[in-house]
Amino acid sequence: MSTTYETVIGLEVHAQLTTDTKIFCGCSKTFGQEANTQTCPVCLGLPGALPVLNGKAVEFAIKAGLATNCAIAPRSIFARKNYFYPDLPKGYQISQFELPVCEHGWLDINTEESGEKRIGITRIHMEEDAGKLIHGETSENARTSFVDLNRACTPLLEIVSEPDMRSADEAIAYLKKLHQIVVYLGVCDGNLEEGSFRCDANVSIRPVGQEELGTRSELKNINSFRFIKQAIEYEVERQADLLDNGGKVVQETRLFDSQTGMTRSMRGKEEAHDYRYFPDPDLVPLVIDEAWIERVRGTLPELPDAKRARFETDLGLSAYDAEILAADQALAAYFEACVPLTGDAKLCANWVMGEISRCLNDENIAIDAAPVSAELLAGLLKRIKDNTISGKIAKTVFEKMWASGKDADSIIEAEGLKQVTDTSAIEAMIDEIIAANPGQTAEFRAGKEKLMGFFVGQVMKASQGKANPGMVNQILRKKLLG
Ligand code: ADP
Ligand code: MG
Ligand code: ZN
Repeated sequence: MSTTYETVIGLEVHAQLTTDTKIFCGCSKTFGQEANTQTCPVCLGLPGALPVLNGKAVEFAIKAGLATNCAIAPRSIFARKNYFYPDLPKGYQISQFELPVCEHGWLDINTEESGEKRIGITRIHMEEDAGKLIHGETSENARTSFVDLNRACTPLLEIVSEPDMRSADEAIAYLKKLHQIVVYLGVCDGNLEEGSFRCDANVSIRPVGQEELGTRSELKNINSFRFIKQAIEYEVERQADLLDNGGKVVQETRLFDSQTGMTRSMRGKEEAHDYRYFPDPDLVPLVIDEAWIERVRGTLPELPDAKRARFETDLGLSAYDAEILAADQALAAYFEACVPLTGDAKLCANWVMGEISRCLNDENIAIDAAPVSAELLAGLLKRIKDNTISGKIAKTVFEKMWASGKDADSIIEAEGLKQVTDTSAIEAMIDEIIAANPGQTAEFRAGKEKLMGFFVGQVMKASQGKANPGMVNQILRKKLLG
């Protein structure tokens, strides 16, 4: 019989900060520029060049720490992490080791399997990114590698979790939450594909009931939530098979291959670096006083959890709607601009999560680029509420608004889409339809209730969808039975 195992996961996230300049020099850090055009003696690691800490990067670290319930260290130290690699010009990376800028935080996650759960954050430290190697692929340069140092010295936060997650789903919930927060704070653009938000997953298993942690493997740099889930699930299976067959998990770094969905060994513990950390003598200790922390606290935006709770309690949205809308700050702002203009939060939520989100997805654009502003959408929703148009016609009007950027009223007017709410006009249409369908009328009167749908359909067709459905039902009933 095979043993039942418990999965244990701890995550290390690297978030690139959205500062204008690098962490220890004034170079710009725009993505996608020509190789080595955003460099200077400091980020090239030329002898004698001295690093100067970017104050904005510190502010962003404090922000991230406060938003993840960390204690901000009054004094932290930059250290040299020594290793040799061609993308690291100084031969060491400036990082933080013994005294990181933030510690002892947590995030609450929610999964279907385990409900609400608190995940500990061990530490957040600041460090510089390395450059990038580009390996030649043409026949002439196949044996050559190039180095681009534009990314060298880009500010990063490394956010290290406790080994508190027990499934791939919990790991993904934690990552998405953290991702949402850094994007909300504006400290990271959150782009996984460009590597602005990268994750290493430490995965181990242990027999259920065992206190001691199993030996972990570390899965490196996987660039989508879906792949992280796949990689963890594959790794858990692999380790369980090993143990079930009398083998042992060895501590190692493994790479995920998205083509095969498998992980493979990259380096073992024996090959692990001894980084010989020591305080960087070129940088003074980072001192953060209470006043600075309070100033930064004052700039924190409303965070996703608070927004979600407010949407539920103040606006009466369902937990599901509140969650979806609060997940995206810009979408939430759009929704909130719409609500007071219509006085109907549920209707606004339906449209923002429905038509608006669908069009944004179809065209792959952000809400700020939508041709229908919150004011314009509210203008349309008001016409549903005051019965000028039905919900169905509103979808047609919306498509035209999206295509033209025009307001609802002018489209309704120009296209003659006003709902018919004039009793005598609807009565006249119904009289005609009853006269034209004597057979169905007799059957209905004899008790064939199902035919109501047929009659409603006929009236809606005759009115080109514009008759008020509530009135049609009421008048039909009166005429057919009266
Ligand atoms: P390193 O710096 O060598 O990667 P750390 O001790 O800083 O090692 O741990 C890194 C991450 O690994 C943390 O997120 C931690 O929670 C996680 N971790 C440590 N031990 C285990 C384990 N046995 N199983 C799963 N995750 C672990
Ligand atoms: Mg690690
Ligand atoms: Zn530079």
